[in-house]
Amino acid sequence: MAIEKFRVVIGCEIHCQLTTKTKAFCACENRYGGIPNTRVCPVCLGLPGAMPRVSKGYVEMGAIAGKALHCDIAHFTKFDRKHYFYPDLAKGYQITQYDIPLCTNGYIDIPYRHLSEESLKGGKYYYDKTFEGKNSVIDNKYKRIRVERIHLEEDVGKSLHLEGKHSYIDYNRCGTPLIEIVTKPDMNSPEEAALFMQSAQEILRYVNVTNGNLEEGNMRCDANINLTVWEDGKEYHTPISEIKNLNSFRAIKDACSYEITRQLKEFEEDRQEFSPYFKNTMNWDEVSGTTNIMRTKDSLLDYRFVVEPDIKPFTVSDEFIQKAADQVGELPEPKRERFKKEYNLSDFDAETLTSTRALALWFEQTAAKSKNVKKAANWILAELLGVLNAKNQTIEEIDLTPDHIAELVNAVEDGTISGKQAKEVFAQMVETNEMPSVIIKEKGMEQVTDTGAIESVVNEVITENPQAVKDFKGGKTHVVGWMMGQVMKKSHGKANPKLATELIQKKLKEL
Ligand code: ZN
Ligand code: MN
Repeated sequence: MAIEKFRVVIGCEIHCQLTTKTKAFCACENRYGGIPNTRVCPVCLGLPGAMPRVSKGYVEMGAIAGKALHCDIAHFTKFDRKHYFYPDLAKGYQITQYDIPLCTNGYIDIPYRHLSEESLKGGKYYYDKTFEGKNSVIDNKYKRIRVERIHLEEDVGKSLHLEGKHSYIDYNRCGTPLIEIVTKPDMNSPEEAALFMQSAQEILRYVNVTNGNLEEGNMRCDANINLTVWEDGKEYHTPISEIKNLNSFRAIKDACSYEITRQLKEFEEDRQEFSPYFKNTMNWDEVSGTTNIMRTKDSLLDYRFVVEPDIKPFTVSDEFIQKAADQVGELPEPKRERFKKEYNLSDFDAETLTSTRALALWFEQTAAKSKNVKKAANWILAELLGVLNAKNQTIEEIDLTPDHIAELVNAVEDGTISGKQAKEVFAQMVETNEMPSVIIKEKGMEQVTDTGAIESVVNEVITENPQAVKDFKGGKTHVVGWMMGQVMKKSHGKANPKLATELIQKKLKEL
């Protein structure tokens, strides 16, 4: 008996917190952290008699997310109660959407260029080279990961287990508006799963529905993973592991890789058949680098879903859906392609300049005012992003404007200052936020580009150096360079070098 080949199958459920002002169904502020249990009210604590109300912007943001992920938006939908008991959910049920989710039938195309050679070929995770997935490959550049549904639901509180003795509960997070993105099992390697999460984060940040901050738990991924194994002409399926709450790309990769090895080993030791409902719920222990079984289900759990009686089912109009679609705007991948074509940028530069929508907009505003777009891009990529990095700031947090960079680029293009002087101006501009034109005046950097002024200096130099003129006439052309040096000396380095050289050559030839 020998394993001939196996295929990894991964589907993801991503919980993503939205940035509405208030929590999903009450007026409590929707914000991360804070002193435990200070942002709670009878509604999010589920006290008797409290009435939920759908917060402003919640359904809108859900629809924008749905449109950004190419989903159909339901014209009629509702909220449901999902009953289960857990201390971090005081009500004893979660308000969610069961059989009519707001969004269905979408997808994200994940870019191949971010996958390793091994993952692309299937590598160690994909021994079946002939398998044709149901999900398609686009232009040989993307793999389409289908999104089955996106529904709205509230987040739960947080349990804190301290000193191994006491458990505490913080309900500040309870009732935070979430969307849950459920994919089809279209991912076939741990890298693809991590890349899906990364792409989802980028898109949802682009359309401003989430902060997408993984460290703060804004986005958490549950990965469902199992293997299809072929042995002696027979096909087996290992039981699905649902790895809960993966909150970094690394964790997704590592946890899935660990599960592949573990499931293969378990299969080799014990080839038993499982019911299709058999599922291990696991958590990922980052410290030991292992998954641990939290619970095992051998049947579908009964959550006793009922329609939420306190919130009326509602209709969603075409206008509402159109408005959501209008909010989506240009997504990161199409923007990248356009930047490459329109501004003649390299793959890498286009990638960096479109990493956030704000940076992309900043660049385009700079480009529109710059006489040399390529140089404008270089200033942002090589200098400005370095400053942001050092100060740990985003483009939205700085006081410099696209006008600053454009003015600097144009000063060099016009020959007002040299490239070297531009670096000096940039350094001061970062410190003081003064406009380049102001700094150039202040430092007396302006090159003299007035032909008349340069001409009189050139004339002086020629009159004062008859021997040099004789040498030039005798064929010693290097005299031009020497005279250029004299002109720069007399003008204290301010003469525009290109203009000065031209004038010297012209005058000498005329003599
Ligand atoms: Zn509340
Ligand atoms: Mn959920």
